[in-house]
Amino acid sequence: MSKLERALFGAARFQESEEYREFQYRFLILVMLASLFFASLFMLSALSGMHPLPTGHVWVLGGFLVSTGGLLLVLRGRSRLYAEVTIAFFTASIAMFTSALLQVPENELRVLWFYTSIPSAYILMGTRFGLLATASLVVGFAVINPWLAVPYSRHAVVSGLVVMVFLGFFFHVHVDRSLAYFQRMRDSNERLRELSQHDVLTGVLNARAYYEQADRLILASRRVGQPCSVLFIDLDHFKWINDSHGHATGDVVLRSVAERMLATMRRSDLIGRIGGEEFSVLMPHTDVAQALVLAEKLRAAVEALMPTVSGRPLRITTSIGVASSHEGDAGIFDVQQRADRAMYQAKAQGRNRVTVFDALQVWAQAPAPSA
Ligand code: GH3
Ligand code: MG
Ligand code: MG
Repeated sequence: MSKLERALFGAARFQESEEYREFQYRFLILVMLASLFFASLFMLSALSGMHPLPTGHVWVLGGFLVSTGGLLLVLRGRSRLYAEVTIAFFTASIAMFTSALLQVPENELRVLWFYTSIPSAYILMGTRFGLLATASLVVGFAVINPWLAVPYSRHAVVSGLVVMVFLGFFFHVHVDRSLAYFQRMRDSNERLRELSQHDVLTGVLNARAYYEQADRLILASRRVGQPCSVLFIDLDHFKWINDSHGHATGDVVLRSVAERMLATMRRSDLIGRIGGEEFSVLMPHTDVAQALVLAEKLRAAVEALMPTVSGRPLRITTSIGVASSHEGDAGIFDVQQRADRAMYQAKAQGRNRVTVFDALQVWAQAPAPSA
C-alpha cells in the first residue's frame, strides 16, 4: 500500500475474497471526499457572496459537510461499518439535493444532482439498494414537482423520469453481471487454490503447501515459547506391494493409509504427502513425549487397517521418525531433517516402529511393537 493510499483509506484490512468490498470501500471514500470538496466550494462561494444561496440551504450545506466529514472519520480504517456509513451518507446527500430542489429555484439544472445517486447506489450497495434508490427517486421527483416554487414542465418531468429509469436499468444490468462474474472468479480461484495445495491421490496437503504451512506453525509456536514435533512416516516395503499387486493397488493402499492417519490424528495437526509413500505430520504445541504417543497410535492404526488386497487382508506397516523443534531451528526443514534421520534409524532397526531423535543425538526407541 502506497503512502497516498494509506493516507486516503486508512489501515482497513480485507481478505483476498473481499476484493469487491475493498473496491466499494475505497470508492465510497473517494465519493465522500469529492462531495466534501464540491459542497465546500458551494459553501465558500455562498459565504463570500460570489454565489448567494438562501440561508436555509446554507445551513443544510453546513449540516451535510459536518455529517459527511464525521462519517468519513468513522469509516476510515473501520470497514465493518461500511453499510451503515453508506446509508447515512446517502441520506445526507438526498437531504441536500432535496433542499436545493426546494430552496434554489433559480438553478434549473439542480435536479441533475439526484442522478448521481443512481450509479453510486448500485456500485456502493448492489442491485437491491440500487433498484430501491432508483424507484424512490422516480416516485419522489414525480410527487414533489407540483410543490416546487417553479415546477418543471410536463415535458421536462417525463424526460427526467425516463432518463432515471434508463440509468437505473443500465447500472442494474452492469452491476448484476459484474457481481456474478466476480463471484464465479472467486469460486474458481478458491477451487484452483485447493487443487494447487492438495495431493491428487490422497487429498492431504502436497509437499509445497505442507512445508509452507508447517513453517508458519513452527514460527508461531516459537513466538509463544511452545515446542512443535514432526513425524516422518514411511511405508515399509511399499515397492513389494506395487510389484506383487500392481501400481493401482498400491495407489488404493496409499489412499486408505492417508485416510486412516487423518482419522487418527488431532484436528490441530497438519499432514502432508511429501514423497511417494512418505508422509509428514506436524504437531503444534507438542513435546517429544506427547509426539511419541501419537506416533505409536498412528503406527498401530495403520497396522490394524488390513485392507483387502487380491481377496486377502494385507498388513501395512510404517516406520516413523519423531523429532521436536529446537530454539535454533530456522524452520520446518531443520526439524524434518532430524525426523528423517530418526526414520532411517527405525528402518535400520527392523521397520514397523517409532524412533525418536533426541537433542543429544542419542537414539531412543518406543516400545517395540508386537510382531
Ligand atoms: P522401505 O521399507 O525401505 O521404505 O521400502 P520401500 O519399498 O517402501 O522403499 P522405496 O523408497 O525403495 O520404495 C518406495 C516405493 O513407493 C517406490 C515406488 O514404486 C512406490 N511409490 C511411490 N509413489 C507411488 C505412488 O504414487 N503410487 C504407488 N502405487 N506407488 C508409489
Ligand atoms: Mg520412501
Ligand atoms: Mg518405504
